[in-house]
Amino acid sequence: MTGPVLELSGLTAGYHGAPVLRDVSLTVAPGEVVALLGANGAGKTTTLRTICGVLAPMAGSVAFAGAPLSGASPDARARRGIAHVPEGRGVFFGLTVAEHFRLRHRGERLDAAAAYRYFPALEELRGRRAGLLSGGEQQMLAVGRALARRPRLLLIDELSLGLAPIIVERLLPVVRGYAKDSGCGVLLVEQHVELALEVADRGYVLSHGAISASGPSAELRANPDLILASYLGEGAAPGSALPGFLSLPECLTLISSCKRL
Ligand code: ATP
Repeated sequence: MTGPVLELSGLTAGYHGAPVLRDVSLTVAPGEVVALLGANGAGKTTTLRTICGVLAPMAGSVAFAGAPLSGASPDARARRGIAHVPEGRGVFFGLTVAEHFRLRHRGERLDAAAAYRYFPALEELRGRRAGLLSGGEQQMLAVGRALARRPRLLLIDELSLGLAPIIVERLLPVVRGYAKDSGCGVLLVEQHVELALEVADRGYVLSHGAISASGPSAELRANPDLILASYLGEGAAPGSALPGFLSLPECLTLISSCKRL
């Protein structure tokens, strides 16, 4: 396949008739990791929900592997190869790691060996109940279960939530490696700007439901003012000093540090 595995064109979506996303266009190519960044409430989760089919677009379109997904149910999208690791992991506390892989996903058999290949620690924890795993191990299990479906598009919502940065620094390169090996496209929603841009090929920044910045990760990392301005809204001009004492790059560092705590 030469075209994008995911293409959002002029997407508008929201809740109860009120748009949250406005005219969002983005692409993810096969094997590419794309970071979707933005402040709390910017619309990142809403974007993933619309791609999964949980929310219907009010305008615009979602295309998967070159074909529009309009009207396809979440089940149909999952069967076509879209896997979603939601915020909060979604593991079953009473089941062991091995049982998570024996459980079919919407009728599909899971490839446990693939998950264990990318996360060998999971194999060692086969007999342990998910409720007894650490947060990092639970996240590994959630991502491993998604990989075990051999998806063509993987959507990951806030992998870092509640995890120490060192754990995230170990998990994200595995996702990167999986994308490279398998050709799966990854859309990574992440609040940890620095960690996400370290593994992503490209990034988009959502601000109040619209794309405010985008580009190769190296460009975005080299231009923290642009990202911070997106986080702070229209009022913040790149390069300007913020409340009395901090410059925009300093604020970006501060935000990242806070997220790392
Ligand atoms: P966060 O990191 O805080 O989850 P986000 O960028 O993922 O932020 P969304 O969860 O997409 O943001 O939320 C975007 C906006 O949509 C917010 O104003 C939120 O209050 C609103 N929203 C989210 N879910 C619902 C819902 N089920 N019903 C109504 N409004 C919602």
